[in-house]
Amino acid sequence: MSKITTLKLGFSNAFLVQEEGLILVDTGINVSEDKYLKIFADLQLDPRTISLLLITHGHNDHFAHAKWLKELTGAPILCHKKALQALRTGQNPEIRARNQLGRNALRRIRLAQPKNYQPVEPDVLVDREYDLTPYGIKGQVIPTPGHSECSLSLVLESGEALVGDLIISSPFTGRPCLAYFTDDEEALLASAEKLSKLANVFYSAHGGPFTREQVLNILQREHEKKSLASNQ
Ligand SMILES: [Zn+2]
Repeated sequence: MSKITTLKLGFSNAFLVQEEGLILVDTGINVSEDKYLKIFADLQLDPRTISLLLITHGHNDHFAHAKWLKELTGAPILCHKKALQALRTGQNPEIRARNQLGRNALRRIRLAQPKNYQPVEPDVLVDREYDLTPYGIKGQVIPTPGHSECSLSLVLESGEALVGDLIISSPFTGRPCLAYFTDDEEALLASAEKLSKLANVFYSAHGGPFTREQVLNILQREHEKKSLASNQ
């Protein structure tokens, strides 16, 4: 079993995944350097033992502190090829809401966040499955587009998955749901379907973790909505 430690960092969760190796998944946002150092100290963890920084996608609540963490840990940054522009410029790509929930969330985010974060140069760019065995983690990074075209998930052999923003808790009701931002509705559903077959626990950047049953319920609701819409 992997040891997954959830780090609640501002608006988002980041994760330490420990097996033979240790990696950090995402960075959180608006977190002071002191807070990071305290977290590492409380865990009795030398940040230089982190061998990889995996950025699940190019939204700034996932990469905001990547530059500082890269310097602190000395670890390479892995992200999707299509996240390169966001990391290099420190800016989000255009974000589109898929429903009212998304529109409300977007309004809240625009009020709360500065637009730019420190640019950083990623080291490993992927656009297909990528095996993390060389980093001491039994698992695969897989593209799971839909929330963004650059979304990646980490699927561990232990049956746990880290899914970025693909599946989240509604910030308004706390209920699990699919991402409320999407650049491709079909891809979002397909990615969630795919993950539901590959894992049974789902760690999210916002809320969670979720069980497979919760994910299957979300998918069922989405299919019902779709068939209602196509019958109208
Ligand atoms: Zn996102």
